[in-house]
Amino acid sequence: MNKNNCVLTVLILLIMSIGMSGCVDEQADGDAFSATGINRDLLFQTSTIDALLEGVYDGDITFEEMKEHGDFGIGTFNGLDGEMIAIDGDVYQIRADGIAYTVNDSMMTPFAAVTYFDVDEDIVINESMSQQQLEEYLVSLMPSKNIIYAFRIDGTFDHMKTRSVPKQNKPYPRLVEVAKNQPTFEFNDTEGTVIGFWLPEYIDGINVPGYHFHFITEDRTAGGHVLEFDLRNANVQIDQTYDFMLELPRNDDFSSVDLTDNKQDELKQVEK
Ligand code: ZN
Repeated sequence: MNKNNCVLTVLILLIMSIGMSGCVDEQADGDAFSATGINRDLLFQTSTIDALLEGVYDGDITFEEMKEHGDFGIGTFNGLDGEMIAIDGDVYQIRADGIAYTVNDSMMTPFAAVTYFDVDEDIVINESMSQQQLEEYLVSLMPSKNIIYAFRIDGTFDHMKTRSVPKQNKPYPRLVEVAKNQPTFEFNDTEGTVIGFWLPEYIDGINVPGYHFHFITEDRTAGGHVLEFDLRNANVQIDQTYDFMLELPRNDDFSSVDLTDNKQDELKQVEK
């Protein structure tokens, strides 16, 4: 290496190190991390949607642990005992009777995803929209189809249809079998909150690509997994999320289940 090349190399290294330390600083004081060092811009998930489809309905994580990772999210309970919705740090269990029960910290989940909800974008909707129209509108606002979005939709719904799932006993049937007998619930002219995520296509197998919403009434007494709705007006809050953490169950059911097949067709049946 001649002298000029050597100076050039040193300069490049210097610029790189400045650039890199700049990145680290940005992460440390950026909005991803709170003063307590918790990464609030992270979606935390336990287990995978394909394991749930295969009937792995018992996890090893309590809601006390889940709440360390977020105050907002959706999922289910051990034994597939209903639909979970976490809102403002409160966790509710909508069981097969459609009623929302409060969840105690010692209960466990086989599949759930939570985050700390921080509003990046706030939208007021003052016109009637079907679920499909709202979903298309929200997709049109997305700056990227490659990141994670959390949605909180507080509104008045002309119509809301949800479902829950009845608690299962071992040997557990596959989720597609359970969903054939799912109880559904209809709400008319109701106020409440829809909570959920839009996830990129590449999440296939791990979680649900596209939208997945749960609903709870304004008085927090009923709700479920959203099947369809018509909205009259709403305040939509969006949290863009860049980080993802997956924690897998440490148990025999999860360890031994075959997760090699693609189950996207089954997932579509189960979600509807
Ligand atoms: Zn659901």
